[in-house]
Amino acid sequence: MKIYNTLSKQKEEFVPLEEGKVKMYVCGPTVYNYIHIGNARPMIVFDTVRHYLEYKGYNVNFVSNFTDVDDKIIKKAMEEGTTAEEVARRFIGECKKDMEGMNVSPATTHPLATQEIDGMIDMIGKLIENGYAYPAADGTVYYRTRKFAGYGKLSHKNIDDLQAGHRDIKVTGDLKEDALDFVLWKPKKEGEPYWESPWGKGRPGWHIECSVMSKKYLGDEIDIHAGGEDLIFPHHENEIAQSEAANGVPFSKYWMHNAFLNVDNKKMSKSVGNFFTVREISEKYDLQTLRFFMLSAHYRSPLNFSADLMEAAKSGLERIITAAENLAHLKKTAQEGGLTAAEQALLAEAAVFTQKFEAAMDDDFNTADAVSAIFELVKFINTNVSPERTIGYVEALYAQLKTLCGILGILLEQDEEVLDEEIENLIAERQAARKEKNFARADEIRDILLEKGIQLKDTREGVQWKRV
Ligand code: AMP
Ligand code: ZN
Repeated sequence: MKIYNTLSKQKEEFVPLEEGKVKMYVCGPTVYNYIHIGNARPMIVFDTVRHYLEYKGYNVNFVSNFTDVDDKIIKKAMEEGTTAEEVARRFIGECKKDMEGMNVSPATTHPLATQEIDGMIDMIGKLIENGYAYPAADGTVYYRTRKFAGYGKLSHKNIDDLQAGHRDIKVTGDLKEDALDFVLWKPKKEGEPYWESPWGKGRPGWHIECSVMSKKYLGDEIDIHAGGEDLIFPHHENEIAQSEAANGVPFSKYWMHNAFLNVDNKKMSKSVGNFFTVREISEKYDLQTLRFFMLSAHYRSPLNFSADLMEAAKSGLERIITAAENLAHLKKTAQEGGLTAAEQALLAEAAVFTQKFEAAMDDDFNTADAVSAIFELVKFINTNVSPERTIGYVEALYAQLKTLCGILGILLEQDEEVLDEEIENLIAERQAARKEKNFARADEIRDILLEKGIQLKDTREGVQWKRV
């Protein structure tokens, strides 16, 4: 399996640090509003990467943070006359709802920056101790960028070019030793949240948060660090400088970055009016459609969002769902008995689509080609199933389609909601059957309910049920 590594600017063979295990960190959103469809791209893309690694047999420890203290959150809280904590809590909840709608699995851990301040103070202290950071007179702690020899290795920038760019914007009264130095700890400002630290009351800089959360939940060295391409510089470059200077080992083996999502071929922006939240899109489309749309392109290609392209994604997805529904329907009327020789040959033919899917995903997660392989399978299904086929054959094709779609996070069937009323009716019917000594029917109803996830318990007070 090959992964394009931003660090080497090449596709590299994926070899995890520890056999069978993957430690992966994805920078999460700053929670001051509903997430927009641009934020949804890394969520969907890296969730799919995670699913595929799991499909390949890896045990994936997937960490994705919420940045819950930040200038934008504080500004929003001030506008609303509430606290930053309340704003963050509210939008983390809303973000989780959107993630669920897009079928993005919860991370193994979703750390919150505000819960990890001690670790940040420790790492900043370590950096000061080994000369990579210094406190300024006003209580700001800066990272001494020039001291880190590898600075610029991820963004492939030359430190002297950066210096030239920065010199023009150096502000007088700056307490930095050097224009390139960046903030690790900011002193408290009136009305802002703060924590006690050896450098006075204040709050952490954004970059140190991810270095610390990654270290705490995954260790000093990780396999994959990911996010949108705007994070390469300075966020990820600074994370490398902090983590490697503090821990003394390479931070992440592979760095993955998704390209941007544009709207009508323009950068998404509130002022242009082409800005959409996931919540807005959910009013018009099933969020599965948004997910399918995102995966129709390779993650490193810019992707354009438009009504036409969403309609195309919608009809493509419908084609897949219809094929799945036909199979589910045919299962009921198909023939009993073992697979025929002809069916075995057809299934061997269909296996090629799984191979194509895997080859696409093994090539730096080319979901665009993986989706094409699914469409080929759908076409095959549409031409090669009929009521004369055996149940085993129909089920095998269904399972194949379900597995491939499942890796992309596309669900073929919605879980049917079992209503309390329906349960009560079945229980009443079972009681009646028992009265008539029709125990076969009573047992059958118990099994039907169990299949729907409802367990019955006969007690002296009557029948009790619970969801299992
Ligand atoms: P932020 O909340 O701005 O830190 O963004 C959270 C994640 O969304 C980061 O990985 C960003 O790189 C990513 N992101 C933001 N805007 C876009 C966009 N238009 N297209 C793709 N990814 C984006
Ligand atoms: Zn980060």
